[in-house]
Amino acid sequence: MVVWIFSLSVSAIEISRIEPACWWVGMQNPELQLMVYGKDIGRASVQLDYPGVHLKEINKADSPNYLFIYLEITSTAPPGTIALTFKEGKKKQVISLELKPRATSIGAQGFSPADVLYLIMPDRFANGDPSNDVWDNEPIDRNDPFARHGGDFAGINQHLDYINDLGVTTVWLNPVLENKMHQAGYQSYHGYATTDFYRVDPRFGSNDDYCRLIDHIHHQGMKVVMDMIYNHCGSLHRWMNDLPCKDWLNHPEGFVPSSHNLYSIMDIHAPPSEITAMTDGWFVEAMPDLNQRNRHLSTYLIQNSIWWIEYARIDGIRHDTHPYADRDFLSRWCKAILDEYPGFNIVGESWYLNTAPLAWWQAGSKWSDKQSYLKTVMDFNLMNACNQYFSVESKANNPLRGIFEVLAQDFLYEDVNNLLVFLDNHDLSRFFKQGETNLDRYKQALTLLLTTRGIPQLYYGTEIGMYGEKKDGDGNLRKDFPGGWPGDPVHAFTSEGRTALQNEAFDFLRRLLQWRKTNPAVDGGKLIHYMPDWETECYVYARIKENNRIWVILNGSNKEQSLSPEKYVEVIGDNTSGREILSGKTLNLKERITIPAKGVYIIE
Ligand code: CA
Repeated sequence: MVVWIFSLSVSAIEISRIEPACWWVGMQNPELQLMVYGKDIGRASVQLDYPGVHLKEINKADSPNYLFIYLEITSTAPPGTIALTFKEGKKKQVISLELKPRATSIGAQGFSPADVLYLIMPDRFANGDPSNDVWDNEPIDRNDPFARHGGDFAGINQHLDYINDLGVTTVWLNPVLENKMHQAGYQSYHGYATTDFYRVDPRFGSNDDYCRLIDHIHHQGMKVVMDMIYNHCGSLHRWMNDLPCKDWLNHPEGFVPSSHNLYSIMDIHAPPSEITAMTDGWFVEAMPDLNQRNRHLSTYLIQNSIWWIEYARIDGIRHDTHPYADRDFLSRWCKAILDEYPGFNIVGESWYLNTAPLAWWQAGSKWSDKQSYLKTVMDFNLMNACNQYFSVESKANNPLRGIFEVLAQDFLYEDVNNLLVFLDNHDLSRFFKQGETNLDRYKQALTLLLTTRGIPQLYYGTEIGMYGEKKDGDGNLRKDFPGGWPGDPVHAFTSEGRTALQNEAFDFLRRLLQWRKTNPAVDGGKLIHYMPDWETECYVYARIKENNRIWVILNGSNKEQSLSPEKYVEVIGDNTSGREILSGKTLNLKERITIPAKGVYIIE
C-alpha cells in the first residue's frame, strides 16, 4: 500500500501523510474520513472528480496542519484511484487514494467457544529474522527482561506447525503496531504504546509480512486475533508534537493519572467526577489518554479497526483497557464493526474479579443503562478463583467449591458462552509454579478451562510449564520461548528438547486440545454442575448439547474418592458406560466410580 504524492508545480503544497491510505468500495458504511497532514494544509481547498464518490465535508482542525475530509462512497463507485486536488493560491498538490475491491480471502470469522486462543508476545516467542532486531536505535538485550529480545513474525511463522499441532485454533498476538518509544526511555517490547496506528512495528516485520503471516495462519485452518488499544497512544506518537485539536487528548496539559477505579462506571453511588477521574486520567505517563468524545478522533479510531480487518483479514479483536475509554465511543465502535462484519467478535479487557461488573459490560446486559455491543468479556473472576483454589498447597478444605461458586453466579451474564476464560496472560503470574514436580493441579485446571463454558485462552509456554511471578516484574511473565532463538541451548519446540515433566505437560494438553476439537458439547453445550460436597470434595459437571455430552470429575481432595452414580442421574441418563478420554479406559456407570486423589476424569 503506497500513498502517491507528486508535485505538479514548483510551489507544491506539502502533504506528508493521509490516513487511511486506501479504502474499499462496497462497504456497509458509505462514509470515509481522510485525515490529511501537511504544513498549513488547513488553508487549502479540496476537489475530486470520481464516479460515485462525493465530497461531504471538509473540516479544519485547531492546528493549521490538519484537514479532516469526509467522503461518501456510494454503491455505484467502482474500484480505482481517486485523485484529490489540494489548492491554495498558486500552489497545488494532487494525492491519489486507492479504492480497492472488497477482500475475498478468509477473514473476519470471529471466534467462539469452539476455538481455543493461544496468546503470544511477539517479541518473546521466536526470532526468525535477526536482521530486523534493531530499529529506532533501541538495542536488544535478551538478558534484560525489560528490553527488546528480537522476536518477530518470521519466528511465529516458522512455528505455525507446532502451534497447530498443539491443537489451539486461534492465535492472539500482543499488539503489533509501531512502538517508537525508545527516545522516551520507555520499554517498547510489549507493544502497548502505539506510535502509528497504520503500521506494524518494523522489528516484527512489514505490513506485508503481517498479512502473509495471517494468510499462513488461515491456511493452517486457524484464526487471528489482533490486540488493539484505543484508550491511549504512546507519548512519542507524532500527534504529540502537533495535536490536531485542542481536545484530542484528555488532560492535554500533561500527565494526570487515571484513578483506575474501574467500578466508577457502573457504581450507582459514584458522582460523575469519579467516572472522569477514571476515564480521562492517563493509564501511565508514557500513554497519553485519547479523548474519543472528539468526533474526528473517534471516527479515525473506528475506521482504523475496519481498515485492519479488511486489509489484514484478522478474525477478532482483543481490546486493551476497555473500561478506560469513553463509553459511548466504545458502543459506537463495537456496533460499527458488527454492522460491517456481523460474525466478528471483540473481547474487551475487563479486569474485574467479580461477576457483576463483568456481566454489566457484556452486550445486551440487563444491568446496564446503555448497550455496549461488546460480545465478549474476559473472565478475570474465574481466573482468580482458579489460581486461588487450584493452589500449590491446597490446604483449604473442599477447594473446588470456590470455583463452583464463581460459576454458580453465571445467571448475571447475558451470554455465558462469550466469556474468555484463562488461567494467566502477559499481565499475570504464570499458573505453573517454579519447582512444581507433579502436574496434578495443572491437569485439573486445564481440564476445567477446556471443558467449562466460555472461550478458552492459553498463554504461550503453558504447554511446557513456563513459570514467572508478577512480583518479579512483568518481564518475567514474558520470557523467551526456549528454542525460539538461533543457538538457544534448549529447544522446547521438539519433544527431544523438553524435560520429562515438560513432555508430560505438553502431551496432556495436546491430547485435551485435540480431543476438544472433536466434541461439540464444549461449543456452547449446557453446563450442569453439582456443588462439591464436604464428604468427597469432588467437582462434578457435564456439558450437554443435543446428543453430545461429556461428564467431568475433578477430585479436589488429597485422597481417593468413590462417587455414587445415582447422584448424577441428570448427567448419566440411560448410559451404562462411558469412555474416559484421558486414559482411554471404559468406566461402568452402574457402579460406584473411584477417582484418585487430585484426579481428573473426562467421560464421554
Ligand atoms: Ca528479529
